[in-house]
Amino acid sequence: MKLRVKVDYKTYQKLKEVEKEYREVLEEAINYGLVNKTTSFTKIKAGVYKTEREKHKDLPSHYIYTACEDASERLDSFEKLKKRGKSYTEKPSVRKVTVHLDDHLWKFNLDKISISTMQGRILISLTFPKIFWRYYNKGWLIASEARFKLLKGNAVEFYVIFKKDVKPYEPKGFIPVDLNENLVSVLVDGKPMLLETNTRRITLGYEYRRKAITTGKSTKDREVRRKLRKLRERDKKVDIRRKLAKLIVKEAFESRSVIVLEDLPRRTPEHMIKDVKDKQLRLRIYRSAFSSMKNVIIEKAREFGVPVILVNPSHTSTVCPVHGTKIVYQPDGGDAPRVGVCEKGKEKWHRDVVALYNLAKRAGDVSPVPLGSKESHDPPTVSGWLRAKSLHSIMIEHKMIEMKV
Ligand SMILES: [Zn+2]
Repeated sequence: MKLRVKVDYKTYQKLKEVEKEYREVLEEAINYGLVNKTTSFTKIKAGVYKTEREKHKDLPSHYIYTACEDASERLDSFEKLKKRGKSYTEKPSVRKVTVHLDDHLWKFNLDKISISTMQGRILISLTFPKIFWRYYNKGWLIASEARFKLLKGNAVEFYVIFKKDVKPYEPKGFIPVDLNENLVSVLVDGKPMLLETNTRRITLGYEYRRKAITTGKSTKDREVRRKLRKLRERDKKVDIRRKLAKLIVKEAFESRSVIVLEDLPRRTPEHMIKDVKDKQLRLRIYRSAFSSMKNVIIEKAREFGVPVILVNPSHTSTVCPVHGTKIVYQPDGGDAPRVGVCEKGKEKWHRDVVALYNLAKRAGDVSPVPLGSKESHDPPTVSGWLRAKSLHSIMIEHKMIEMKV
């Protein structure tokens, strides 16, 4: 929808500045695409971003992104014209410029919209035509991308895009997630998978290095502070958490599933990491492995609109999800300390897998739990998942390896 508005001279000049630099970036981006024979936004952006950022230091950086997008679209349609023999020039010419905006560059509000310029944000009041209200009141949403064009006589034309709200999320399945000090277990398509995070080992290693830096020195010391900062920056845990949360949430989003997590941990730090003497350290491991991990998943899920159900965690690993009877683990651990036997059916269960099925059940999953399958007591444990594209790809890869073996 086009919205036309008259602005004051100053505002117009600020937009004019943006338009000028935007045009320059756009032209460079188009040239880059032509020279390198690509219409891909990502390639163009990778190719020009750095130099354009240097050249246009005051231009809000997102204009460089949107100009690259603009260039990619122009190159794309130019190529199509050329194929049909309808282009009259050797290269796409930039005559009229419509500045593309993304959600960083503009903010919509019913009384004012704001736009980033080289001199800060400017505010513009709009009056809306009837047709605008018709869409707006019927629940259409305003898309995050918009455009503006400068006309003569201090007039600006806005292109606002309406979009229909996406369908409400109707969950079709459950992805329970069980968090542990060294592992995160998930159920994908009803199959368990244990992903190694080594949170405990990493935290301990981190602590060891921290001690080595600070022992006998004041933490106020400049050199000590610098070293600590560097250490924090290299903190792997943050990276692992983020990546893992993304894999889980993406999987849930694509299969339209609900994520199921433990509401409160079934083990407090005291019980979870018994063998670590230092209380402070125990708490740190616990936080990294459990509460921080949980928060990152919840946050990511919110971003994707994936629902999260928190369920009561008590006895999730000690009750058989098939028979409802007790699962007995050997008191001394034995050679497989995490594997127990169901009192009634005598089938074997891995502690973390039991927890997964029970979490799903508590969230309302009624799909049958496989009985006595290999995965139930010997689930695949995956360590090199950090570069994986999806949980599904991890599963497939794992199967292939197993078949080869
Ligand atoms: Zn059983």
